[in-house]
Amino acid sequence: MKLKLHWQILIAMALGIIFALIAGEKALVVAPLGTIFMRLLKMIIVPLVLFSITSGVASLGDSRTLGRMGLKTFGYYFLTSISAIVIGLLLTNLIKPGVGVSIDTGVGSFDPSNLSNSGGILGILIRMIPTNPVQAMAEGNMLSIIFWSIAFGFGITRLDGKPKEILTNFFNAGFEAMMKITHGIIFLLPIGVFGLISKAVASSGWDLFRAVGMYMVTIFTGLTIHIFILLPLIFWFFTRINPLKHFRAMAPAMATAFSTSSSGATLPVTMDCVENNVGVSNKTTSFVLPLGATINMDGTALYECAGVIFIAQALGFDLSFAQQFVIVITAFLASVGAAAVPSAGLVMIFIVLDAVGLGEHPGAALIVGTMLAVDRPLDMYRTMVNITSDSIGAAIIAKSEGETDLYKNY
Ligand code: ASP
Repeated sequence: MKLKLHWQILIAMALGIIFALIAGEKALVVAPLGTIFMRLLKMIIVPLVLFSITSGVASLGDSRTLGRMGLKTFGYYFLTSISAIVIGLLLTNLIKPGVGVSIDTGVGSFDPSNLSNSGGILGILIRMIPTNPVQAMAEGNMLSIIFWSIAFGFGITRLDGKPKEILTNFFNAGFEAMMKITHGIIFLLPIGVFGLISKAVASSGWDLFRAVGMYMVTIFTGLTIHIFILLPLIFWFFTRINPLKHFRAMAPAMATAFSTSSSGATLPVTMDCVENNVGVSNKTTSFVLPLGATINMDGTALYECAGVIFIAQALGFDLSFAQQFVIVITAFLASVGAAAVPSAGLVMIFIVLDAVGLGEHPGAALIVGTMLAVDRPLDMYRTMVNITSDSIGAAIIAKSEGETDLYKNY
């Protein structure tokens, strides 16, 4: 009998860890397996987002449906991101991971200018509008591609007769072809995961983890509460379906997010699981998920908030209520603006630091350097939280749109 994909992946993960622990640095020989898998996933992202959002918006039919779906999608994304941030806020105030931390770990060679070029929130919003959509696609600029695809899809809905039919069919067919390619790539998942996990374990320095132990514990706890308690509750509240079904259906995508640390690279797998395992319609999947992968990052939002309060605590600042409120808002915006790639959340932390006036503090840059050094496991986990929230959103919205054939095999 053939083993189910999620078991294959779990076994690949375990083997990857064991292999890296035994072989040490030598485990890096299998790193190319992970690299090849990542490249295959990345290869598909730009055309997938272009075809799926354009066909998604075009098949919504009219601006009323588009408005309704848009409102639900953004409403859900806002709700879950803010609740994640509040969890981060409460935990950092409770555990106080930064109090008493002295960071002079000699990570030294860190150059903060590498991190701080995120350009501010307004800049992100303005840059969302591509001056040249082809260039946006060539550069893989997701927000711009989404903006263009929504505009294009909307344009198609305004056409009549044959032209409308031709373009809608073209983009629907293109989207289906992308999903077929994705399905092919997914067969390689266990091999890719093995390569990625071996590399992550083999190249981690364990000593540093101890210096910022409580910080890591805080983030892990927050992410765990969010993904395994709060999100399932929200899911159950709106659908009355057992959340375990959802986790089982999404296991391959969750494992891919965990091993790639990139919601963008995971998007094809997320879409495949939501469409084929959860049973959400093509129309909902293709609208909700590409948007979600780019702007809905609960794990990252929680991390931005907790990370900045940790830094403030380590620098000996006591943040006022008003400052913490500013952190909640900017953490949300930073998570929306963060790219769906590894460690993007850490880059955005400077935006939140700036908002409370700590951006220029030399100590802050040093601490961010240390956070960077231990970021990998946190990034893996928050990416998994990010895509889980997207997929729960897709299921909730599908249910609310009257889709009934969900979780048939789970
Ligand atoms: N790696 C995360 C993602 O792709 C973003 C982050 O760094 O928080 O979802």
